[in-house]
Amino acid sequence: MTVTQQYLGPAGIVDLKKRYMIPCVYHFYADPPQIVRASGAFMFDHEGRRYLDCYSGVTVMNAGHCNPQISAAVIEQINTLQHTCTIYLTEPIVRLAERLADTLPDGLNRSFFAVTGSEATEGAMLLARLHTGRRRIVALRDGLHGRTRWAMNATGLGMWRTDPHPDDAVDFVPMGDVEALAEVFDRQGRDIAAIVAEPIHGNGGIVVPPAGFFAAVRDLCTRHGALWIADEVQTGVNRTGSFLAVEHEGVVPDVVCVAKALGNGFPISAFVTTNEIAASYTRPGASTLGGNPVSATAALATLEFHEANRLGERAARLGQTLLSRLREVQARHDVVADVRGRGLMIGMELDAQDADATARATDCVLESMKDAGYLVGKTGPGRNVITFMPPLIVEWEDMAGATDALDEALKRCMS
Ligand code: PMP
Repeated sequence: MTVTQQYLGPAGIVDLKKRYMIPCVYHFYADPPQIVRASGAFMFDHEGRRYLDCYSGVTVMNAGHCNPQISAAVIEQINTLQHTCTIYLTEPIVRLAERLADTLPDGLNRSFFAVTGSEATEGAMLLARLHTGRRRIVALRDGLHGRTRWAMNATGLGMWRTDPHPDDAVDFVPMGDVEALAEVFDRQGRDIAAIVAEPIHGNGGIVVPPAGFFAAVRDLCTRHGALWIADEVQTGVNRTGSFLAVEHEGVVPDVVCVAKALGNGFPISAFVTTNEIAASYTRPGASTLGGNPVSATAALATLEFHEANRLGERAARLGQTLLSRLREVQARHDVVADVRGRGLMIGMELDAQDADATARATDCVLESMKDAGYLVGKTGPGRNVITFMPPLIVEWEDMAGATDALDEALKRCMS
């Protein structure tokens, strides 16, 4: 039996998916590989082909795949104590809460742990309703906050607003539009519990706010007694060059949501707030698996690794170089409309003759890059923003290879 024969293979997986999974779960690529193994910044398929991971499983594997230090801590914890639920006292969860309070901006020092990003944003909105006694939420157009009821209601991206009966207690304003935001607050400020926003739109196409937008958000929320919830599920944990993306804005939110990269592949999320706001949430709240000993240990080991290896500084440095290199690529290809981002969260927007041609070009680039050994992402309301969010431990030489492959792919796809 050859090595490849022990795997089901892409066709076998797609067949089982079609027969046994709910069809809403899509995958990338017309000719997708079966990923069987990963290490550091690389993933490997069932035929032993190596790919540079330029998307980190949607910015989860910031400390690299199968990170030996994180794995060792997790394996030891798995062999010692896996789960108790929060009705019993265990140490990792409180150590993690303490560590987050030390890591986050001053004042953000009370955590609630859950499993997914959706639960973190959902919980943060519940907290805002409890604290203010108000009902309405303001969110950004093209923002994404998850798949649970409130998280989906506050999601502005049409593609992910699946619920045919959304709640009407949400107002959407465009990212960066202070006037539109002020108008919503003027109209119904006394009924607004919170504004929930990603500091940089992830799935919305790597959209960076204009300078001063979040200072205006801070100001409006303070004046109207509403909370500002920063959804850092995608931007947090050093992705943009600082631990939180809001740190670039010089203002501090009332609640921060983190997930994804917090556990580096282990399911854990949190919303974190101030002493004063936390005091409003005294009725019982529990997440069975939230912050259990294994996931809390994974998060602690992840935060230790980030700090010891200064991954925030590394993301800022590599991100600058990548941004300049991608702008050089842009100069050679008319189809590239924009290159933007912060740290190692960078998007390249394509614009061909029309929406169909643009979508075809984007898919062609993704497929060509995959064939050349580079897995990049695709985001944006038009699914036309090629996205670079590699593990923060990636070496520049490997990312440079990705930009060369991108140059070739753009040439091939537009000829
Ligand atoms: N918020 C943001 C900004 C996200 O990008 C996502 C997931 N892509 C979520 C929330 C939801 O996270 P999860 O899929 O873990 O529920």
